[in-house]
Amino acid sequence: MKIHNFSAGPSILPEFTIEKTAEAIKNFAGTGLSVMEVSHRGKEFIAVMDEAVALFRELLNIPEGYSVLFLGGGASLQFCMVPYNLLSKKAAYLNTGTWASKALKEAKLFGEVVEVASSKDANFSYIPKGYTIPDDVDYFHITTNNTIFGTEIHEDLDVKVPLVADMSSDIFSRPVDVSKYAIIYGGAQKNLAPAGVTFVIVKNDILGKVDRPIPTMLNYQTHINDGSMFNTPPVVPVFAALQTLKWLKEMGGVAAMQKINQEKAAILYDEIDANPLFKGTANKEDRSLMNVCFVMNDGYEELEPEFQKFASANGMSGIKGHRSVGGFRASIYNAMPKESVQALIDCMREFKKMHLK
Ligand SMILES: *Cc1c(COP(=O)(O)O)cnc(C)c1O
Repeated sequence: MKIHNFSAGPSILPEFTIEKTAEAIKNFAGTGLSVMEVSHRGKEFIAVMDEAVALFRELLNIPEGYSVLFLGGGASLQFCMVPYNLLSKKAAYLNTGTWASKALKEAKLFGEVVEVASSKDANFSYIPKGYTIPDDVDYFHITTNNTIFGTEIHEDLDVKVPLVADMSSDIFSRPVDVSKYAIIYGGAQKNLAPAGVTFVIVKNDILGKVDRPIPTMLNYQTHINDGSMFNTPPVVPVFAALQTLKWLKEMGGVAAMQKINQEKAAILYDEIDANPLFKGTANKEDRSLMNVCFVMNDGYEELEPEFQKFASANGMSGIKGHRSVGGFRASIYNAMPKESVQALIDCMREFKKMHLK
C-alpha cells in the first residue's frame, strides 16, 4: 500500500531529492566517496554550495544587494539572530501563532517589542488586519505561514519599516517579491530539505546598524563574508536542498508550483466544506495552502479516533492535528502530489458513507 506523507515537518520531499541524495551518500560526484565524508572545502562540495545559492536566487528572483546563507540552528536560532543583528531599540511583531510568539519572546531579550496585533483571542484561527506599525521600529516581524494553526499571509505586505519574515513552511510555495523584505529565513525541513539547514536571505545594507557586540557565529556578516563556509555547513542537507531546487526548476518554478498548490488546497478545502462530518478551523480567507487543519463537525466529535484509525489503515500518515488545535492537519507541501491529496479526500468520502447520520 502506498503511504501518503502528510507530516508537518520534517516532511515529504520530492522522490528526486531522496534518490539523488541516496546516490551521493554512496558515491558523491564520481569521487568514490560519500558526500558525508568529504571536505566541505573540496571543489565538489563548493560547486554544490555555489549552485544551491545560484538556484535560490534564480527561483525567487532575488535582487542584487541580498545574500543567501545556509546556516545551522534551525528557524529557532533566527528568532535570536534577527534581533541580535537588527534590534537597536524597538521592534514590532505580528503574533499569529506558536512560532510567532516564540520569535516575539526572544526579541524581548534585546529591546522593546511592540505586539501590533494578535489572533490569540481566537486560538490563532485568523490573520489580524488593519493594525498600525509604529514608524520608529527597527523592523516588523511576521510569520507568513502558521504551520500549526493553518493560516497564511498570502501576499507580500507593503510596510514602511524593514520587513522580516519567517517563511519556514511556505518558502518556494509561491512567488515572493524579495525586494519588500529585509530578511527572509526558515528551517529547511518543511519544504526544501531534511532537517539541519536553515536558509537566510538578507539584505546586505540592513546590517551593521546595532551598537552591541555580536558573537562571531551569530553575526550575519560573518557568514556573508565566508559564503556560509565560516564553519562546516550542514553538508548533506545542503546537497539535498540543491536537489529540491533542481526539481523545482524542472517543475516550472515557483509560479507553476503556486498553481499546483492552489489546486491541491482547493480540492481538499472543498471536501472539508462539503462533507458534513468535518469542518475547517481557520478563517476561510486566511486558510493556508500548505497546512490544512480540520476537525470533526458538531455532532460527530466522538468519531475522531475512528477517522484517525481509518485514515491510517488507508495509508494516510502524519494527519494527526497539533495538540493546540486538535483534530487533523494535512500538510500538503510542494512535494505532495495531487493524487495523495485525492487519496485523503476519497478516504473522507468513504468515511462519510459509513457514518453520515
Ligand atoms: C517548524 C517551524 C519553526 C521551527 O523551526 P526549527 O528549524 O525547528 O527551529 C519556526 N517557524 C515556523 C513557521 C515553523 O513552521
